[in-house]
Amino acid sequence: MKDEMDLVGMVIRPPSEADSILLQVTLGCSHGKCAFCGAYREKRFAIKPESTVFEDIDWAAAYCLRQRRVFLCDGDALILPQQRLLAILDRIRERLPWVTRVGSYANAKSLKRKTDAELAELVAHGLGLVYLGLESGDDKTLAAMGKHGDVALHVAQGRRAMAAGMKLSVSVVLGLAGPEGAEEHARLTGEALSAMDPDQAAALSLMLIPGTPLHDRWEAGLFTPPTQEQSLRELRALIAATNLSRGLFLSDHASNYLPLRIRLPRDKEEALTRIDAALAGQEALRPEWQRRL
Ligand code: SF4
Repeated sequence: MKDEMDLVGMVIRPPSEADSILLQVTLGCSHGKCAFCGAYREKRFAIKPESTVFEDIDWAAAYCLRQRRVFLCDGDALILPQQRLLAILDRIRERLPWVTRVGSYANAKSLKRKTDAELAELVAHGLGLVYLGLESGDDKTLAAMGKHGDVALHVAQGRRAMAAGMKLSVSVVLGLAGPEGAEEHARLTGEALSAMDPDQAAALSLMLIPGTPLHDRWEAGLFTPPTQEQSLRELRALIAATNLSRGLFLSDHASNYLPLRIRLPRDKEEALTRIDAALAGQEALRPEWQRRL
């Protein structure tokens, strides 16, 4: 048995997967062109050999007896051919029978490549949750950021994932449209989240990462990131425009100034009141030096 799992380079996972077994099935992201994203810049996209993934599952079977969740890394495990992914899910079920949830990042392209029957088949074999990056509900902003697909595609693919039985968590990024586009970005993003109606929506705040195209644009004076106050105003406008039927809305990512964890629609007014208090200087905010991705 090898000494440790085969994790290549920086491995990223959502905050809620902090205690999960991180099983790396691909390297990097199959898209890799989003202007703000520095996640996998050092990796060339590749699907890892099945034998390596299976050895990692066997390692977890020996050493991860208390972890109840598995998260498939890196950026987009759903891009795997269906039979490869099913074989991994089956191996997890066989060797890690105590695991109660398998999650993965997804994007609109990889979801679209799967038929409804294939998505349902993944659920039947144990894939219970996908994290979809919408980033913005504004088509202009998605295009400016180099995101694959438009808002309608993301809404449709998110809804297909849920119809197949997956839980859906959708992330959006405050500040992506700069100060001049902030209001529209927030409103349209709230409307897109409402149309998707996911189980969970999470807002991150933009942080410029050296080496990314967006950082270059900022250095060239072509992009302005939001101030703390603008970011709070954008969060307020986003929540005001978001109507989920039963979902959680989170802004508790380490990049955010004001951590919120609210249930919509129940807690909307209370959240808006808290943001107003923060804008009036009556609520403590996360200091700049504590923010991170
Ligand atoms: S934001 Fe997501 S889809 Fe875009 S490059 Fe980064 S990991 Fe890939």
